[in-house]
Amino acid sequence: MSELILVVEDEPSLQETLAYNLEKQGYRVETASDGRTALETARRLKPDLIVLDIMLPALDGIEVCKALRRESFSSPILMLTARDEEIDRVVGLEIGADDYLTKPFSMRELLARIKAQLRRMQVVREELDKIKTASPAQDTLIFGNLSINRTRREVLVDGNVIPLKPQEYELLLFFAEHRGQMLSREFILERVWGWDYIGDSRTVDVHVRWLRQKIESDPANPARIVTVRGGGYRFEG
Ligand code: CA
Repeated sequence: MSELILVVEDEPSLQETLAYNLEKQGYRVETASDGRTALETARRLKPDLIVLDIMLPALDGIEVCKALRRESFSSPILMLTARDEEIDRVVGLEIGADDYLTKPFSMRELLARIKAQLRRMQVVREELDKIKTASPAQDTLIFGNLSINRTRREVLVDGNVIPLKPQEYELLLFFAEHRGQMLSREFILERVWGWDYIGDSRTVDVHVRWLRQKIESDPANPARIVTVRGGGYRFEG
């Protein structure tokens, strides 16, 4: 199947032009006109690349990009900026964008950048495949019938792959790497979600509940991720 590109642009005529030209190149295209919809669409469809305008209603492109990167969204993000002076902010590592174009830009230039980014991702994937094939058992944490493969980002219980959302995986890995330690909700939130995450410690509770459903043999009486009264959680293994 052809690659899916999410086009986030609030100016209708530009959005339409972008979508039209990308489809003509054989890509599948989804569109969003504001930041919140963009975030929701990206989470749901996991596009292969995002063309992301900075100035957007609801949530600007920089916030969208940062939020996705925090969630381990790894597809390339190409930002559209209106002014040159925004570039320094965009390409900074903390934002997590891969490339940018300053408006106005030519369609040919945009297509070339998109192709380059998709090709780069293809190379990365092939390299990762090579590593996987070369050392399948490497980098695995084992706790009884539970194993976590950090290279593949794969969790198995009794040999069966457990589907985890990216944040659930990050949380479980964080627990596993701090086995036996009491971890406060605030500490977990800061280390797993990032200090600038907009949310509260209930986010941690919700994800712990989901994780327990997936990795505990009796989620109502958890033996792996135990609650520490007045404190937080402790991973027993
Ligand atoms: Ca705009």
